[in-house]
Amino acid sequence: MSDGKQDFPVCFLENMGKHLKKSVPLRDYSNFKIGGKADYFFEAVSITELVKSILLARERSFPYFIIGGGYNILFDDEGFRGLIIRNCVQGIKQIGEKAEIEVLAGTRLEDLINFSIDKGLSGFEFLAGIPGTVGGAVFSNAGAFGHSIGKFLKDAEILNRKGKRVKVKRDYFEFRYRHSILSKQNDVFLRAVFKLQQGEKGEIKSRIEENLEKRKINHPPWDAAYAGSYFKNPVLPDGRRVPAAHFLDEVGAKNMKVGGAVVYGGHANFIINKEKASAQDVLSLAQELKERVKERFGVDLEEEVIFLPAGSSTP
Ligand SMILES: Cc1cc2nc3c(=O)[nH]c(=O)nc-3n(C[C@H](O)[C@H](O)[C@H](O)COP(=O)(O)OP(=O)(O)OC[C@H]3O[C@@H](n4cnc5c(N)ncnc54)[C@H](O)[C@@H]3O)c2cc1C
Repeated sequence: MSDGKQDFPVCFLENMGKHLKKSVPLRDYSNFKIGGKADYFFEAVSITELVKSILLARERSFPYFIIGGGYNILFDDEGFRGLIIRNCVQGIKQIGEKAEIEVLAGTRLEDLINFSIDKGLSGFEFLAGIPGTVGGAVFSNAGAFGHSIGKFLKDAEILNRKGKRVKVKRDYFEFRYRHSILSKQNDVFLRAVFKLQQGEKGEIKSRIEENLEKRKINHPPWDAAYAGSYFKNPVLPDGRRVPAAHFLDEVGAKNMKVGGAVVYGGHANFIINKEKASAQDVLSLAQELKERVKERFGVDLEEEVIFLPAGSSTP
């Protein structure tokens, strides 16, 4: 790290009244259980802390990266040369008697689902079994069974590129399959209001149980170290979106292995850290899979899992 950046922890302490943690192993914050040490690490527990820490890093041109639950991230074996900000800003409330919920971005999806059940609000049943925070889910427009989270978002508050907290409507996010504008520009999602429907608690619960059962069929065991689907489902020239697993199956992906990284035998779109895999093992295996699919079908697979190189910097 260059000399001009050495005083960042001091400046952080002066402005935030809190110490940054140093040399934090990122494998502890990723479901892949892979990753070297981050130079600095901070857990923001309020919107003020989250916003102030980001603005400070931006003002100082100090490299930073925001994470939620770390369920969709592959960290570098070399860790991260900068500051990882973990968003732990949690909170949920119902708006009056309406079928609307206001949620802070660091809230766990599991808590959001339990809150919806408790209030008899239906819509989020498809999220059952998807781990992570609301922020991470909005970032990639997380979804399953033909639904995705963006469809339910009514309005939100973000910290924009210019460092301003602004209110935006659903359209702002440009939600598409596993995409929102957050993955294209440097906005931070802070909170949102989601619009659901009144429902019956028992029915909501049984739909959730059904979804969880469906997931059990082809997902690895709950304690497997992986980040969900590795590749997005590609769109073919005729406009059809086809499961990536279809192509991966055809090229013999299941049980393929590089170092400690293995393609799950029960579903070809899951790469698992089986035996102390390195990030490099996972990346090499993914590259081999992409090449095979390209060669055989002419299809370009795009990663759904986000790889964070050690030397990268949020613009
Ligand atoms: C077992 C398993 C099953 C899964 N099943 C599914 C599934 O069915 N469908 C699906 O879509 N995904 C699935 N995933 C992937 C993952 O759960 C989702 O992508 C989830 O939304 C990630 O949330 P997170 O908080 O862990 O995000 P992280 O992994 O921490 O971060 C992901 C990205 O979001 C960004 N981000 C996080 N918070 C914010 C914020 N507040 N503002 C701006 N950017 C932010 C980060 O910078 C990063 O780029 C699965 C993962 C696992 C391990």
